Amino acid sequence: MSGSSVIRVSLRAVPVYEPGETACPVDLRDNVNLWGAPPHAIAVLHQAAADTLAQYPRVSAGALASRIADHCGVATDEVAVGCGSDDLIDSACRAFAEPGMRIALPAPSFSMVPIFARLNGLEPVACPLTSDGSADVDAMLAAKARIIYLCSPNNPTGTVTPPEAVDRLLRESDALVIFDGAYAEFAPELADFRREAPSRQRLLVLRTFSKAWGLAGLRVGYAVGAADVIRALRQANGPYKVNALAERAACAALDADGGWMRQHAAAAVACRDRATAELRTLGLSPLRSCGNFVSVPVRDAQALAARIAARGVAVRAFSNLPVYGDLIRAGVGPWPLMEQFLSAVRAAVAS
Ligand code: PMP
Repeated sequence: MSGSSVIRVSLRAVPVYEPGETACPVDLRDNVNLWGAPPHAIAVLHQAAADTLAQYPRVSAGALASRIADHCGVATDEVAVGCGSDDLIDSACRAFAEPGMRIALPAPSFSMVPIFARLNGLEPVACPLTSDGSADVDAMLAAKARIIYLCSPNNPTGTVTPPEAVDRLLRESDALVIFDGAYAEFAPELADFRREAPSRQRLLVLRTFSKAWGLAGLRVGYAVGAADVIRALRQANGPYKVNALAERAACAALDADGGWMRQHAAAAVACRDRATAELRTLGLSPLRSCGNFVSVPVRDAQALAARIAARGVAVRAFSNLPVYGDLIRAGVGPWPLMEQFLSAVRAAVAS
């Protein structure tokens, strides 16, 4: 756990994250819920706004932590909430490592992790995914890192790391292992570790309301782990990270929008698989994704994404990724949006 050292970070080493605006009418860049926000959360926001705004929320969003604990089948002191799971990754870098220490992460994976690592003076060690798209456990162990980050389903590949990899990392290292399940709702058949995290000592599971739950604009994420791990995380996270409206809406979503969430997650999976099949008919080789997005290896992602954008559809372009080279990644939503995406890709590939 972190001591009292002063963090001296060269901000020049921290990559800038500025995805910018898009003029495209269809924006598939962020893997959010393209069906929108859940109805009970919206209703609570309408009612709650006037009587909530003049008051401070609870310091550490206790009501929400307790609802999340019930939802996950753990105790309230085994849950921490934050301003998105981004915020909890940031805090974990401070809580569980000292400046100069390493964090091992798969490559490619969630692009914010090295940013938060560097902001906190940690050295990110990129460990290329294996050829089947899972985390390379040997490379991660060899990194001798204080924190090991895993993401499953992994952004941006959609690939999965099997539970045995987590078991081995916990057994053969003394690192804190972060298991980021931001897209887990789209693969409910996979091990998600929330219930057992508190008894696994050094396992911290991260989840978000930004994807399947449709609340990205409110910025709510949570962590589940052993009570002492959660205490250290909360301490590093600081007070008032979840605002009053976000807390009320997320509670309402958990109470009453579970059916909405599962229905749209299933629809996303169906649209993803249909879009994947269509992309194959265009001669492309999309990755087998378990998330609410589809990624396609291409020769020049920036150029292809620009040609797709010229047809009104914004997708994310990744260049020179380890293992995969260039990829375009598109979030999955209602089928009419996918048709627009597919016809833009068809035209862009042909041009
Ligand atoms: N983890 C992964 C893998 C993600 O892709 C994202 C968002 N793109 C996050 C965490 C951050 O989610 P939040 O909105 O909760 O900060």
